Amino acid sequence: MRINALPSGNGFSFEITHGLENSLARAGTISTPHGEVATPAFIPVGTKATVKAVLPETMKELGAQALLSNAYHLYLQPGSDIIDDAGGLSRFMNWPGPTFTDSGGFQVLSLGVGFKKVLAMDVQTFRSDEVVAGNKERLAHVDDDGVTFKSHIDGSMHRFTPEISMRVQHQIGADIIFAFDECTTLHNTRKYQEKALERTRAWGIRCLDEHQKLTLERSEKPYQALYGVIQGAQYEDLRKKAATDMAALRSSDPENPIAFDGFGLGGALDKKTLGTILTWMNEILPVEKPRHLLGIGAPEDLFIGVDNGIDTFDCVLASRIARTSAVYTMEGRYNLSNAANRRAFEPIDAECDCYTCTHYTKAYVHHLFRGKEINAATLATIHNERFIVRLVDQMRAALIAGNYPEMKAEFMGRYKHLSGQARD
Ligand SMILES: [Zn+2]
Repeated sequence: MRINALPSGNGFSFEITHGLENSLARAGTISTPHGEVATPAFIPVGTKATVKAVLPETMKELGAQALLSNAYHLYLQPGSDIIDDAGGLSRFMNWPGPTFTDSGGFQVLSLGVGFKKVLAMDVQTFRSDEVVAGNKERLAHVDDDGVTFKSHIDGSMHRFTPEISMRVQHQIGADIIFAFDECTTLHNTRKYQEKALERTRAWGIRCLDEHQKLTLERSEKPYQALYGVIQGAQYEDLRKKAATDMAALRSSDPENPIAFDGFGLGGALDKKTLGTILTWMNEILPVEKPRHLLGIGAPEDLFIGVDNGIDTFDCVLASRIARTSAVYTMEGRYNLSNAANRRAFEPIDAECDCYTCTHYTKAYVHHLFRGKEINAATLATIHNERFIVRLVDQMRAALIAGNYPEMKAEFMGRYKHLSGQARD
């Protein structure tokens, strides 16, 4: 059943093949110059053009369809011009499949200045309209033209504008890139959220203009699809306004006004209201364009995303927690470093088909973590990335087979079992 499809003249297209009745959930295929992504799909993160501790060949084997890197990190190191000279991100990191880069907006405004998204989601910890790290020094300053920030590597000063972000992302050369946006936190005042939203809208037009110019200038390069980013924090009217505005946005070329190829749903999202907020946006966004949920990746949140019309996800969580010995299983999440695993001569998850689970025991990986061996991170990351990639693959298969609600109920019923008690 072919429901909707974008034209594929430039090498990028999206086709929805299956839907779920009375729901925004859908399955489909995104086509890019470097290959296809069957959706819904989880896109593992290789921030600096590498998934920490795991080779791209292994990511391919464990089922990753695409990888997402970060423009801010690659701009600072090695420099986006070097990736351009190397033939683009895909060739540079020996990943022949599709790639994404996020614009750097979130990193410039948060990671680089000392607080992370998990903190940004906690309303109690941070109250200010200025972006300030723990030491109270202002490290990023936003104005209407762009953001000035201090490198987290060497303290040098840099400036990102919508045009610079587009140039950097064109040099990096990922198949799917994101417009530069101002990412706010839940603690910014309502007035500030309104101001940031208008700024993101104005920056969206500048991104479309620069993207159109660069696409023409670099016409020998593979087409890059540009996604607009929807912000608006926890406010229903702002989220709906942002979705309406970004869907209608066009470049200022009167001859050929281009629109966004897809949308990134971003910003501070409160776990409890995630589903409601996604519905506000996805009921407005054009159904035929792909939607990417930025930076969300816990199993229970992936279901909420798919329920509410998300096509792709990215998140560092699976690999980040793996390096601290936390692993996902069908029964929930637990910690491999726990003494209980010393003599556990069985796989991390008996139902997992990953390389780690088919070749190694919990006791062995526990031993590697206790001994601070770097292969501990490799084996745990392979497992966690496979678990999350496969879980979203299973959601897609269930959407196609028509039994998604049953599959979700079964997973959530079992998954709660350990997760309630074994959070780290
Ligand atoms: Zn496994």
